[in-house]
Amino acid sequence: MKKRVLITGAAGFLGSHLCERMLAEGMDVVAMDNLITGDMRNLEHLFPLPEFQFYHHDVSRFVHVSGPLDYILHFASPASPIDYLKMPIQTLKVGSLGTHNLLGLAKEKGATFMIASTSEVYGDPLVHPQTEDYWGNVNPIGPRGVYDEAKRFQEAITMAYHTFHKVDIRIVRIFNTYGPRMRLEDGRVLPAFFSQAFRGEGLPVFGDGSQTRSFCYVDDLVEGIHRLLMSDYCYPVNIGNPSEITIKTFADEILALVGNPKAHIIYKELPQDDPKQRQPDITLAKKLLGWEPKVSREEGLRKTIGYFRERVLGE
Ligand code: UDP
Repeated sequence: MKKRVLITGAAGFLGSHLCERMLAEGMDVVAMDNLITGDMRNLEHLFPLPEFQFYHHDVSRFVHVSGPLDYILHFASPASPIDYLKMPIQTLKVGSLGTHNLLGLAKEKGATFMIASTSEVYGDPLVHPQTEDYWGNVNPIGPRGVYDEAKRFQEAITMAYHTFHKVDIRIVRIFNTYGPRMRLEDGRVLPAFFSQAFRGEGLPVFGDGSQTRSFCYVDDLVEGIHRLLMSDYCYPVNIGNPSEITIKTFADEILALVGNPKAHIIYKELPQDDPKQRQPDITLAKKLLGWEPKVSREEGLRKTIGYFRERVLGE
């Protein structure tokens, strides 16, 4: 029997890659997005497919989908710090009300429900690398609180529906991910650095650049998500690439890769509550799913550079 999946946030960076993957797995895809940060260009190529349907809808309002659903993947949310600073209420609503609506739908349809959780549930972590059993260090009223707490609530309500309504759930905690279809202006470090490098301008390193992140190529992430979905594990799993670097080193790597002699590093103020370090412990994903990332940062950046060159320079 053909499976049918609802993907929210489908016009976004991860959502659009997930639509492609689920179609490739032979599923019918119902895509949903309110397009506040999504971009229809990410989905245009899928519209001719009879297996693909798109609904322009905000999942913070009641969600109706006719027909059966086997899976619901809730990936809708503003997801970069400047986006959720600009849209704090929508961020809180899609994580809370949106998740509640979609859990109701999952219960009604008997669908497996997956949420896109995040390394942000660990806040500015005091445990390094982060394991799934770490409870985190989050400032609820800081600027990032709207995202972090929405995602923490999302985990809580999803687990409650599992416990009390026996909804089959999956919780993927996604660490920094990159690849084609990231929005140029989303303020995240990779689009910011690539844009400025191609324009021959200053790459804005926040603080002294000694804070660390661990970047995962999107294809690796999607593979991990698919394996988790197909498993029967109802607790959080970290999916990310453990290769950790400082933001200053990352800027140097992008400068070297783009090779624009006019580009250079500039330093800007570190945003409030910016996590000092972040690295996934993926022991659980390895054991449970036989998953680990395959694409090195060098290879992943090479796969991504053409997309940014075209978006910035129109070539
Ligand atoms: N950052 C930076 N310059 C930028 C954007 C981000 O130096 O133009 C830093 C930011 O302070 C953080 C890291 O890069 O330490 C990753 O930021 P991003 O917004 O990509 O994601 P986060 O992991 O903070 O959610």
